[in-house]
Amino acid sequence: MYMGPSDCSPLFRVSNFHDKSQAPKSYRTVLHCDANSFFASCETALHPEYALVPMAVCGSVEDRHGIVLAKNELAKKYNIKTAETVWAAKKKCPNLLIVRPTYQLYSEMSRRMNDIFYQYTDLVEPFGVDESWLDVSGSVRLFGNGKRIADAIRERILNELGITVSVGVSFNKVFAKLGSDLKKPNATSVIPPERFASIVWPLPVTDLLFVGSSTAKTLERIGVHTIGDLACCDEAALSEVLGKNGLMLKEFALGHDYAEVTVKGYEPEPKSVSNGMTFRHNLENLQDISFAVTYLSMSVAERLRKHSLCCKNVAVTVRTPDMKSVNRSAMLSHPTCLYSEISKAALYLVRENTNPESEIYSVTVHAEKLTRENEFLYQQQLFTEPWEDKYKKLHSLESAVDAIRLRYGREAIGIASALNNRLI
Ligand SMILES: [Mg+2]
Repeated sequence: MYMGPSDCSPLFRVSNFHDKSQAPKSYRTVLHCDANSFFASCETALHPEYALVPMAVCGSVEDRHGIVLAKNELAKKYNIKTAETVWAAKKKCPNLLIVRPTYQLYSEMSRRMNDIFYQYTDLVEPFGVDESWLDVSGSVRLFGNGKRIADAIRERILNELGITVSVGVSFNKVFAKLGSDLKKPNATSVIPPERFASIVWPLPVTDLLFVGSSTAKTLERIGVHTIGDLACCDEAALSEVLGKNGLMLKEFALGHDYAEVTVKGYEPEPKSVSNGMTFRHNLENLQDISFAVTYLSMSVAERLRKHSLCCKNVAVTVRTPDMKSVNRSAMLSHPTCLYSEISKAALYLVRENTNPESEIYSVTVHAEKLTRENEFLYQQQLFTEPWEDKYKKLHSLESAVDAIRLRYGREAIGIASALNNRLI
């Protein structure tokens, strides 16, 4: 389950999927491992009795996140779908057992799953909490071919963690990902280079990574229904409707995906950093708004500092209970990566652009126009602007908080107003 942005454009920007200069000299062996109904499987591993009844992990109704997050095999028989409301799911299956999510358990299971992957290769690239790509090209002499490694990994995860995974084995990431969807649960599917067309081309084009429903609709208009249609499609027609992305998708359909499985710890540099939240209650007064904005700005600033970036602009998106949203941005007097400065700008934007009488449903804080400018601050001691001294002091304070959190965990230090706060 990929829990990143629904719009795939940032991925396009950072990927080198279509760069032919990256083409390897020989075929790689790439695995994509995808845990089946991950949240539900984790819960069942802990409570085996859950396997005997239709069960779904759902966000709670009180928290306004009352949707199905994952369901077990028995619940699937009732046609219960991920992301539908608890209410709709209960209508289909009145006896459905509803389980609240325990995210700590899922991240622990995810870590243990990835630990197993690392025993077969150091080239592991997680894609969300329950999926990872593995490049095992360098390990086949030691552990056997891709299928043998995939089967060994499945068996170990089942024995050691009690959950099932589906694995796709292929010569690139896009086909490995597609392979892991072919057979579920607990299966290995191989898409070899010499036979990929007969396996992949008859499949609907939506099975291809990055082809979402709106791209599929566009493709349908020019007669592309299957991956094979895409592979044979006229390039001019494709680029007319989808631009460069259309041409890249055709390359994928032809098996020309040369993106590397990125090494441990790799994280692409962000183009912008945002954090938004629907709080437990609507924001009713200035105190609520101030807390919300500060809370969100802290994690935005932390991510900026992690990448040694500063933002020149701060923007906010505010949603009111009638689902109307307002988007406003402002340029800062100097680039910053400090939460104290980001939250000040964000709070100003919220206050200036909302009616103080009306409640707020959700807020998002965005750091935009990212730059490395302030990184050089410490090297330029000759001329100091008046704000720089204060900035440096605050920067050491906030970096100290980062260091404490890195060492002792996120909960080790935080803002006092977050304690027992009714909003989070
Ligand atoms: Mg999954």
